[in-house]
Amino acid sequence: MNRRATISIPLVAVVMALASSPGCDSPADIHRFSFATMGTVAVGTVEVWDKTHKRTPEEIVAAVFDSIDVHLSSWRDDSELALLNAAPADTTINVSRWLADCLQAADSLNRASYGAFDVTAEPLMRLWGFYSGQGHLPTAAELDSTLALLGHYSFDASMRTVTKHLAGTQFDLGAIAKGYAVDRAVADLVDFGISTALIDLGGNIFCLGVPDGRDAWRLGIRDPRNPSAVLATFDAVHKAMATSGAYERYVDIDGRRYGHIMNPATGSPAEGLLSVTVIGRRATMCDGLSTTLFVAGPDEALRLLRDVYRQYDAVLVLPPPAGASKARVLATSGLRGNLTLTDAATPATTLEFLDF
Ligand code: ADP
Ligand code: MG
Repeated sequence: MNRRATISIPLVAVVMALASSPGCDSPADIHRFSFATMGTVAVGTVEVWDKTHKRTPEEIVAAVFDSIDVHLSSWRDDSELALLNAAPADTTINVSRWLADCLQAADSLNRASYGAFDVTAEPLMRLWGFYSGQGHLPTAAELDSTLALLGHYSFDASMRTVTKHLAGTQFDLGAIAKGYAVDRAVADLVDFGISTALIDLGGNIFCLGVPDGRDAWRLGIRDPRNPSAVLATFDAVHKAMATSGAYERYVDIDGRRYGHIMNPATGSPAEGLLSVTVIGRRATMCDGLSTTLFVAGPDEALRLLRDVYRQYDAVLVLPPPAGASKARVLATSGLRGNLTLTDAATPATTLEFLDF
């Protein structure tokens, strides 16, 4: 089945890298190229600003993104992930380091968020029609029987083994694999002597080093109310960034739009936030944490940022409070003096910095 044709996915990245936008000075020999991986969800670009390197960046990044497809893609019937999903109950499967790394990150996010992040949300995605592209509003009975499939597996990180306890427990790494691919690509680029690059895999960004003559990369966050516009910008050095928002991928059912991030507490798409951007040192965690905070909702997201994930910065976009017209942007204090709303977003947006 071709899952690609029917789902609405914007071709542009979720988060914009503005470093090489018109008006910025860029060296003449900048490399820029794209990869499609994991269906059409992720289109990667890598700008390499170094002038000399031992191996072409195309070769390095193509190798990483190809491996990611082979191991982690839900869009290929022959990926390692697909083989795990097809496995019967109570059969122990050895998994690659790639899959094990993702499952380990997923487990820690799941525990910290009391289940908001769930790497086995696949049956919910399927029920709501995200794989077929045909949206379906589930009945209460369908929700119950599908929720009963989630989470029945054990994972041994040191042995790198997974055992499903129900055949119907199914994994979907859509919230974490692109970030992981970016971290692997960064490590390989560094190994091959590349020290200045901007990597963007479907909105999962890493800015490596600093371009010549600049202090930082200028990154932009999309406006979830108008995804072709920039909401806010900030400067970053050697940082990863990821955004989760319901506007990125959705199904329409009876005139209502349902986003692709599931709340395992209800079985329905998560609501409450318009988007969440996370900035930190590792793209894997930025990817997973942005999804986690989106599911957790505004109050629980603030608790997680304050009590568990203090080393990350985040930008939460909330709908206007009752009776108000401006969307609220809440940013962690590490972004104070750096994050600024764009002129276009300012009239309809308030910006507050958190005090922890
Ligand atoms: P994107 O893939 O657009 O970058 P995210 O990183 O937020 O967005 O990941 C969303 C994807 O994660 C969904 O398309 C689905 O594959 C998977 N997913 C949905 N709900 C959850 C959840 N509660 N926990 C973990 N993964 C989820
Ligand atoms: Mg994510």
